[in-house]
Amino acid sequence: MSRTVLHWFRRDLRLTDNTALHHAAQSAPQVIPVYILSDWKQNHGWTGPNRQQFLCGCLESLAKNLTTLGSRLILRCGKAEAELERLIRETGAEAVYFNRDYDLFGRATESRVQALCTRLGIECHVYQDSVLHEPDDVLTGGGQPYRVYTPYSKNWLNLPKPAARGRITSLGPPAGESITSLPLPTLAHWQLPASTAHLPAPGERAARDRLKHFIDSGILFSYGQQRNLPAGQTTSLLSQDLRFGLLSIREIYHRCLAAGTQAAAAHHAAAPASIQTYVKELAWREFYVAILWHYPHVFAQEFAPDWVGLPWPGTEVDFQRWATGTTGFPIVDAGMRQLLHTGLMHNRLRMITAMFLTKDLHCDWRLGEAYFMQQLVDGENASNNGGWQWSAGTGADAAPYFRIQNPWLQSIRFDPDGTYIKQWVPELKHVPAPLLHEAPKPGQPLAKGYPLPMLDHPTERDRCLAIFAKHKAERQ
Ligand SMILES: Cc1cc2nc3c(=O)[nH]c(=O)nc-3n(C[C@H](O)[C@H](O)[C@H](O)COP(=O)(O)OP(=O)(O)OC[C@H]3O[C@@H](n4cnc5c(N)ncnc54)[C@H](O)[C@@H]3O)c2cc1C
Repeated sequence: MSRTVLHWFRRDLRLTDNTALHHAAQSAPQVIPVYILSDWKQNHGWTGPNRQQFLCGCLESLAKNLTTLGSRLILRCGKAEAELERLIRETGAEAVYFNRDYDLFGRATESRVQALCTRLGIECHVYQDSVLHEPDDVLTGGGQPYRVYTPYSKNWLNLPKPAARGRITSLGPPAGESITSLPLPTLAHWQLPASTAHLPAPGERAARDRLKHFIDSGILFSYGQQRNLPAGQTTSLLSQDLRFGLLSIREIYHRCLAAGTQAAAAHHAAAPASIQTYVKELAWREFYVAILWHYPHVFAQEFAPDWVGLPWPGTEVDFQRWATGTTGFPIVDAGMRQLLHTGLMHNRLRMITAMFLTKDLHCDWRLGEAYFMQQLVDGENASNNGGWQWSAGTGADAAPYFRIQNPWLQSIRFDPDGTYIKQWVPELKHVPAPLLHEAPKPGQPLAKGYPLPMLDHPTERDRCLAIFAKHKAERQ
């Protein structure tokens, strides 16, 4: 059998339990692994140095792992369909294998690649890989997509979950020297400045270590009680690994469940409930994938028609104070600075800061959404858009617009001793914890060099309610 096929790596940068790669390896004695770099330069409204730096590290690790199998990663740059066509012609490949990407842009590219394969008369094999259940597998009894998380998750939880496969062991001989490849990219490829953030370690090995640590250290077993507390590690920290496919969702799911069974047998009382809570978070991820798939308008517009055209009178100056973590609200500033320093932010803080931008500063959620995408290592459209629309009160199953979190109360509830705040806002290191959770007296900053709160929360809350109520009344 002399058949040659391509495996097109996308958001699946791993060799373990990679569905399309597994099928490609079974179908042909030679699989040519390829990754196609994007060709934008300098400014991209939706990405920045943090995520691209992480991607570079993941590609380097993938290339090394492929070498240990006796294979070679081929890197190209440009439009996927044009680069794949070139490679198909150069190699005489008879098929292209890849895993489905549910994102708007991924979807559009996929249809062009499928059209290319039809035109060239070669096979095109597309697989479900990055989710446990595809958007069209979780529908209401009437065959409609869900608009609300709870019934979606009940259905999702009850569906049988696909099993995980092992690691690939061979992809055949390396592609010949005649197949050219670009060198591994650095940020210079996109003409981006260096990332100044302390990012998580890239690559499949590092991701596997993170999963092991989450389970073996017992963080998984206390996830149910601890996950909302941002100080220390209370969550899995696997979102960038899911974003880039360094880990398979099937493996995460089954390993957590297996650990739960063992823990329950060892009478770890909190374990089963914690694991259930964790699995429900994985369902949130797929809920937002399904929302973006079925309601692609959310990408530019409010999910709920009632809120389309809602005015957002916040100013650029306000936005900048939020983005730089200088609002004078310690909990908000801590979240924004964690993002600046690490390219990540705890989920509770994502909610607090997103609500602060939209409900206290009245800035358009789309500005915050884009800013998060530029900074986040785990930035991905479905979850980010879902999280922003939830916080703004405009999304699927969003917090109702009149339920506005009070940042001072969130602060005392989730960071009572100020450990998280003091870690990210060092100016406040010596301020007694109770003072971090209430507005200081007028003209008396909490510490030298730290700003007074830029606004009065009750006043801005009332203003927000008035904006929403007026818009609603005008639409009726
Ligand atoms: C405004 C806002 C923006 C967000 N942007 C992103 C984003 O760009 N990329 C992203 O992966 N997540 C995003 N989230 C969801 C969530 O904050 C992160 O997934 C989580 O903080 C990642 O940390 P973890 O891996 O330790 O999560 P864990 O608590 O350990 O959860 C496990 C996994 O479940 C998924 N998950 C957990 N919570 C959510 C959620 N609310 N929505 C969707 N998936 C979830 C993630 O894949 C996560 O890795 C956003 C949330 C908000 C409120």
